[in-house]
Amino acid sequence: MTETRSTCPYCGVGCGVIIQSEAGQITGVRGDPQHPANFGRLCTKGSTLHLTAAAPVTRQTRLLQPMLRERRNGAPLPVEWGRALDLAAARFAQAVTDHGPDAVGFYISGQLLTEDYYVFNKLAKGLIGTNNVDTNSRLCMSSAVAGYKMTLGADAPPACYEDVDHADCLFIAGSNTAFAHPVLFRRIEEARAAKPQMKVIVCDPRRTDTAEFADLFLPIQPGTDVMLFHGLLHIMLWEGWTQPEYIAQHTSGFDALKTVVRECTPEQVAQTCGIPKEDLFTAAQWFATSNSTLSLYCQGLNQSSSGTAKNAALVNLHLATAQIGRPGAGPFSLTGQPNAMGGREVGGLANLLSAHRDLANPQHRAEVAALWGVPSVPDKPGKTAVEMFQAAADGEIKALWIACTNPAQSMPDQATVRRALQRAEFVVVQEAFATTTTCEFADLLLPATTWGEKDGTVTNSERRISRVRPAVGKPGGARHDWEIVVEFGRRLEARLPSPPPSPASGRGSPEDPETPGQRRTLFPYATPESIWLEHRESTRGRDLDITGLSYGLLERSPQQWPFAEGAAQGRARLYEDGVFPTADGKARFAAVQYRPLAEARESRYPFSLTTGRLRDQWHGMSRTGTLGRLFGHVPEPVVEMHPQDIARRLLREGDLVHVTSKRGSIVLPVQASAALGVNQAFIAMHWGPEFLAGVSSTGERLAGVNALTTSAYCPTSKQPELKHAAVKILKAELP
Ligand code: SF4
Repeated sequence: MTETRSTCPYCGVGCGVIIQSEAGQITGVRGDPQHPANFGRLCTKGSTLHLTAAAPVTRQTRLLQPMLRERRNGAPLPVEWGRALDLAAARFAQAVTDHGPDAVGFYISGQLLTEDYYVFNKLAKGLIGTNNVDTNSRLCMSSAVAGYKMTLGADAPPACYEDVDHADCLFIAGSNTAFAHPVLFRRIEEARAAKPQMKVIVCDPRRTDTAEFADLFLPIQPGTDVMLFHGLLHIMLWEGWTQPEYIAQHTSGFDALKTVVRECTPEQVAQTCGIPKEDLFTAAQWFATSNSTLSLYCQGLNQSSSGTAKNAALVNLHLATAQIGRPGAGPFSLTGQPNAMGGREVGGLANLLSAHRDLANPQHRAEVAALWGVPSVPDKPGKTAVEMFQAAADGEIKALWIACTNPAQSMPDQATVRRALQRAEFVVVQEAFATTTTCEFADLLLPATTWGEKDGTVTNSERRISRVRPAVGKPGGARHDWEIVVEFGRRLEARLPSPPPSPASGRGSPEDPETPGQRRTLFPYATPESIWLEHRESTRGRDLDITGLSYGLLERSPQQWPFAEGAAQGRARLYEDGVFPTADGKARFAAVQYRPLAEARESRYPFSLTTGRLRDQWHGMSRTGTLGRLFGHVPEPVVEMHPQDIARRLLREGDLVHVTSKRGSIVLPVQASAALGVNQAFIAMHWGPEFLAGVSSTGERLAGVNALTTSAYCPTSKQPELKHAAVKILKAELP
């Protein structure tokens, strides 16, 4: 038996795993006792990875060779890799030649490794000249990115998991940590058991398992987080619980914020948020006066049309009370996916560039162009996730490339996404699993490797970079994601006009010596490490500088950034000196306004539907859905409702109901849940077409809860409001 150290591919905790394999098959998995994210622990999903890797092909059908669909709605047929990539290059080059670079788009994934992300970004922005590259991480953490940059000056979570052990007060907002980040939750449980004085506040519309654990639960009305956070600051100011000295020395903009929060009186907040005034005072006191307060937050804040404002308003509380830059203190956003953070690092989003550079900054564009050896990086903002599919549905984007994600199930307003996939003239889907709904829309399917087979790096929620290593070889004709991009990129280079050489050309690399008369490639890579080395160089002098790291060092132990050349170790927490990466070195209070939900409940749609994760499933279930034991916790989709709502509508548990929004309708059994407030409903996000059929408002077949959700998004982060839709719930009449 061989043991290989790697990283769990599920959530942003980023647990270290040791994969056991024999004769080219994965046979077991155990937690890595030396990995600082988990110290050997694994949750139900992580501890069954080997079983899902070996799942029978009854449901989990791997893509093992490229497949081409010559006609829409025809059956895909096997095709050689060379022909597949030639055809893809020809179709993308044609779209660019006929309609310009912005006629193509790349929608990628927080499941990809950092090296995969890097080459996708370079392909779009460096070679093709479009910023139309975005990722499902847009649905996951873009509001956290925008919130950090607005207040602290950089997209860098300032805290780490060890801070859970040091905190005297934990403020958990919009995060069911017990289900979504289970190993971190075990650490929280142990920390509180060791420190009886620790207070845990949970703020969530649902009484989740995490809320059950709280000393103080704030069951806020959906979407009212900004009002709550401003109200807590109002009380802190009134009671003298802020830190004027810290505010004066290390921040700016407090007077403007005070003007905003003056209106957020306890009475007003209690009425808007549905929280008793005495609980508001208790929360404000614990947050402000504890020795150290750590906030943990996730999709409840991020997946919102006010996502950036919610994030910024929570950071405001930490700045006003000096609960930052000390052990156990700080705002700490949790990433949903295993490498949402790595994607941010390489700039794999429509508005970012490598190493946390901004597309809108001309100097940053010039730096990246010089690094890549291209004349320029386009300045026109790229299409973000929702915008990209809308542009394809409108006929603006002709060729779409989707990698390692399933937008036909996971994006909001599925009807529009499916129209986009049908209207685009050429759709490439690069995937490991043939079972995703998006595969049905592909003209060309390209088989990719997955967990246990891939080689590279990922970064978890606490800025810790870990190695991902292959325990077994590539199955069938599957290729690594970075290899597919590199092979495609080289073919596309031959078909697009050659750009003039950049004066500061960094094009090519020592392992790709220039041949006289031949154009140097932007993709000279032979290994993932060669890509990572280029990424590493791009971080020199930046806030996430990793020039002191190497694959060799990461082999020995995962490391946190920044880790600059000459450093002995990475930084566990940031801003301990009170200096922030802004022009004047001061953090900025954000005087954001409370805004109501994009789609409020109303008489025709009287329920607030919220969505979320189950404990034992992951995303669209392409991996976890292959294993029967992972259905033991929740065996089938249900809509949860408050018992009073069930009784008032003359329903009984188990009755089938239509849950209908303005966009679509699904049918599923009703289940009573005291975790919800009256007029609220909950449906888990994972269930796909095998489990949860639906129909759009115009009669198209859809599946899953995103038949109902809205694509309304935060104007700053462009993250859609997946957490809330107004719905009606009516008993389904049997034929
Ligand atoms: Fe994997 Fe997350 Fe579970 Fe850790 S907590 S084993 S990273 S799913």
